[in-house]
Amino acid sequence: MNEFVERRIALPPSPAPRRSYDVVIIGGGGHGLATAYYLAARHGITNVAVLERRYIGAGNSGRNTTVIRANYGIPEAVAFYQRSLELYEGLEAELDRAVMHRTKGLLWLAHCEATLRTEKARAVLNTACGAQTEFVGPDEVARLCPLLDLEGGGQFPVLGASYHPRGATARHDRVIWGYAEGAIRRGVHVHQGIEVTGLVRDGDRVTGVETSAGRIGAGVVLGAVGGHVTTLASMAGVRLPIRTHPLQAAVTNHYPQTLGPVVISSDLLVYVSQTPRGELLFGAEIDRQAGYSYRSGVDFLQNCALRAITLLPFMRRLRLLRQWVGVCDMSPDYSPIMGETGADGFLITTGWGTWGFKAIPAGGEQMAATIADGRPTELIAPFALDRFERDRTMADRGSAGTH
Ligand SMILES: Cc1cc2nc3c(=O)[nH]c(=O)nc-3n(C[C@H](O)[C@H](O)[C@H](O)COP(=O)(O)OP(=O)(O)OC[C@H]3O[C@@H](n4cnc5c(N)ncnc54)[C@H](O)[C@@H]3O)c2cc1C
Repeated sequence: MNEFVERRIALPPSPAPRRSYDVVIIGGGGHGLATAYYLAARHGITNVAVLERRYIGAGNSGRNTTVIRANYGIPEAVAFYQRSLELYEGLEAELDRAVMHRTKGLLWLAHCEATLRTEKARAVLNTACGAQTEFVGPDEVARLCPLLDLEGGGQFPVLGASYHPRGATARHDRVIWGYAEGAIRRGVHVHQGIEVTGLVRDGDRVTGVETSAGRIGAGVVLGAVGGHVTTLASMAGVRLPIRTHPLQAAVTNHYPQTLGPVVISSDLLVYVSQTPRGELLFGAEIDRQAGYSYRSGVDFLQNCALRAITLLPFMRRLRLLRQWVGVCDMSPDYSPIMGETGADGFLITTGWGTWGFKAIPAGGEQMAATIADGRPTELIAPFALDRFERDRTMADRGSAGTH
């Protein structure tokens, strides 16, 4: 028995794969499972299979640091992520499962004049586009997060911050299992341990998938494969402007005091949040070298821990519990790519880089509507793949939080 089979999650069983489905979704991460759930729950489309080569949540959806926010830098992104933030706020009721959603607010710190201007502009843009963000000075920062060292170790003084009160976190595996279970209850098949090895084509149309369990026909195929989308898309002859980079994160042991909001500093390139168990989760930027390696390193720990301690000096007394890696499909404009690929019958939801956990509910909802209606919804139309050839990129690098 291989390691993946041993780690399968005990979901309600799905019967053996059918010879064909109306919709085949490749990838049992948050985006694939949420799309399956909303297809069944909102559109009554239940002849759907999710094919996951390992176990659900094995990819980035089970490896991320779960920050949920809508304080993006372009109107289209604010609208999309605000929808997702609102869906997260109602997710426990929607799925009838505890996903440990906690609204805790988010402080995006400024340590120099240029960033101060950026954060002030973020507050204005967010407010104009329907997300709640306000600019706050150092006194208010201290009130919201007393554990922060406002001197920033003498080198990175906190001059102010944008404060996003509806910033939140949720338990990642509960979100994944909640969507999977909700989909299965409505008749969707979720198959773990089945790998897609090829796409079946009839001329320009994708009509099914080759898998480790044989060929499966499909009316529509959706690729939702996290950091492996270029491999999948190449099976349909589609080239994507995506590069895959590892992203690391780490967690400390329990700290008895409450941190309060999620803290982000793009000047220092670090973010920190506290889990419901009191552990401190922290992370930073993607590894510079593109690649698919899941190996974490001491360089990351040294650099990232130093930056976290600069802002939150109490962290130097904590011990490290774990560090880990995911591989992220980075789009050149730091925005997602959702919808048609140019190959008939083959859609993708990708480019989720370091920011796609927060997008799972809206991504799933909107992709399901796109599949059901046969055309992209208004909310995701700006994120179509053809924006690159139309010179309509959705540049939003400053909102990645990790760059
Ligand atoms: C360390 C880290 C921290 C992060 N922090 C945050 C954060 O705080 N907030 C945020 O919003 N985002 C964050 N992200 C990003 C977020 O995790 C991802 O964008 C999101 O989870 C992507 O979800 P997905 O469903 O597209 O892909 P995944 O969750 O990666 O799922 C893809 C699935 O496809 C499967 N698969 C691949 N190829 C095949 C195949 N050929 N056949 C069958 N199955 C296949 C994989 O096994 C995998 O389970 C972070 C990521 C990392 C790595």
